[in-house]
Amino acid sequence: MKDVIINIEHVSKQFGDKVVLDDINLQIKKGEFITFLGPSGCGKTTLLRIIGGFHLPTDGKVEMEGKDLLTLPPHKRPLNTVFQRYALFPHLDVYDNVAFGLKLKKEDNEDIAEKVTKVLRMVGMSDYEDRDVNSLSGGQQQRIAIARAIVNQPKILLLDEPLSALDLKMRKDMQIELKEMHQKLGITFIYVTHDQEEALTLSDTIVVMNEGKIQQIGTPEDIYNEPQNAFVADFIGESNILVGTMIEDRKVSFIGHEFACVDEGFEPNEAVDVVLRPEDIYIMNKLEGAQFTGVVKSCTFKGVHNEIFVETENGFELMIQDYNFFQPGNTVGLIIKPADIHVMKKDCLSNRFEGEITAEGEVTFLDTIFDCDTTGFEVGDKVCVDVAFEKVDLLDHKEDSDLRGFVSFILYKGNHYHLTITTEGGAKLFVNTNDVWDKLDTVGVNINAEDIRLTKIEA
Ligand code: ATP
Repeated sequence: MKDVIINIEHVSKQFGDKVVLDDINLQIKKGEFITFLGPSGCGKTTLLRIIGGFHLPTDGKVEMEGKDLLTLPPHKRPLNTVFQRYALFPHLDVYDNVAFGLKLKKEDNEDIAEKVTKVLRMVGMSDYEDRDVNSLSGGQQQRIAIARAIVNQPKILLLDEPLSALDLKMRKDMQIELKEMHQKLGITFIYVTHDQEEALTLSDTIVVMNEGKIQQIGTPEDIYNEPQNAFVADFIGESNILVGTMIEDRKVSFIGHEFACVDEGFEPNEAVDVVLRPEDIYIMNKLEGAQFTGVVKSCTFKGVHNEIFVETENGFELMIQDYNFFQPGNTVGLIIKPADIHVMKKDCLSNRFEGEITAEGEVTFLDTIFDCDTTGFEVGDKVCVDVAFEKVDLLDHKEDSDLRGFVSFILYKGNHYHLTITTEGGAKLFVNTNDVWDKLDTVGVNINAEDIRLTKIEA
């Protein structure tokens, strides 16, 4: 506990009915560069703002060095924030922007001058003291914003997507500078971004978030090489995510072949997801010695490597990265080494809901009435409802259905899409389909009577 600077326990945040953070538990170590990473709306900024004092959580506690942080107003917290937009004072020059907080605290003028000079040197802006901030480029303005945030020596620097307004080249340069600054200052940096590459480059620790929940905490290497679930695998870097079966320890089957792997601790024949990074699939023109073969569908040069789509003998599509060019139409040999196969437990095997028999031949779940075979059940029975992922039909015309929602997450699994549908009531429904949907498409949901499996829940 000694090296923990921030301790977050069971923190939740609701805005109205909307749960934005759901039971967040996290410890941040002194001096580390930690990044909250996730798609837009996942709650990462809200978590940062709770630490900064701009929001209060609905539940839970936040401590800094063992003391309650939530009772302290933002300006009394020993931390400072750098925002996405530079938020500099347009009427003050560079020196006065940086000196502003110190002057407010009525520090001695000589001390102020010494501190301002030191931080301007640190952010590479030594010769700019007298410049009007409006005459600076975006990157320079952000350097001044960082100088202003570190001049009063906070214990923690909070950075809310500080590079997102910069162009690519400037962003890359500033990433290197931020990392150097972190090392020089030796203070804790808490960084928010939706850019996975930025997170992998900068961080000691990454916290991957989705829909208000932490999905995984780890070093960039852990997160990239050992994603804990399909969301993390899909969000971090490119990956092939495939349906598989763990035959026994260290033996997994997918795309119609058996492969040696290094994973253990699964049930015999347990259904799993398999993650293969595109750079970990070996592709060659000769077929002898290959574990399986496929036909090259496309090969596109991407600057450093080629991106190759291959269709396997069994109709699965794989994305592969290789420095060599492979001619579309050619048959190629493929090899995957045991250590490059990442096996993940499945979150769930079918849709499961609580329901009630509301009339003969009718079950109600997700606030919707469905026809189904209720033989053996009585009206009023509480039931567990199972629906296979491939038995949920999605309709374009959502008016044709009593249950509606939108596509909130899409995973391509080599030969089908695995979609997450968030219903109007906020429930999640999973669907396997060959149809192509876009994220945020609104859909109607239809489930046929014969595809609904009921089990009685004993009172
Ligand atoms: P982004 O990168 O788009 O900022 P984020 O992961 O940082 O995304 P948050 O800004 O934390 O997400 O917002 C999470 C959810 O909370 C969003 O759906 C957002 O609309 C909602 N939200 C944030 N602030 C408020 C607020 N003050 N009132 C109501 N809803 C809010």
